[in-house]
Amino acid sequence: MGETVFSKIIRKEIPAQILYEDDEILAFKDIAPQAPIHILIIPKKEIPTVNHITEQDVHLVGKLFLVAQKLAKEFGVDSSGYRLVVNCNSDAGQAVYHLHLHLLAGRKFSWPPG
Ligand code: 5GP
Repeated sequence: MGETVFSKIIRKEIPAQILYEDDEILAFKDIAPQAPIHILIIPKKEIPTVNHITEQDVHLVGKLFLVAQKLAKEFGVDSSGYRLVVNCNSDAGQAVYHLHLHLLAGRKFSWPPG
């Protein structure tokens, strides 16, 4: 699998609208937003899919959720609601093989998802 476009965003080789960054995590606006707020939250470590998460990554994966929570508060949608999505492999529609959490908000979402 190897490197993806997200590695280039992490290295600032291609631009992105970055909303949060620390040593381990980066969050930026999705290039093709599916909701008024659509943010991708990624570990800087290259983990291709949920299937590749190990015990070693437990803290890192937990941090993805804490960053999502922080951004939801900042965007004022923590009370109104938001959806977090992680696609894994082709049936789920994963297009970029670098683990990421989609934070979607600003409209109503249906259930079950399409
Ligand atoms: P997936 O389908 O893998 O869960 O989602 C990948 C997401 O990455 C898509 O929502 C897509 O719009 C977004 N994306 C793909 N390439 C880029 C890019 O170069 N920049 C940004 N900001 N988002 C991207």
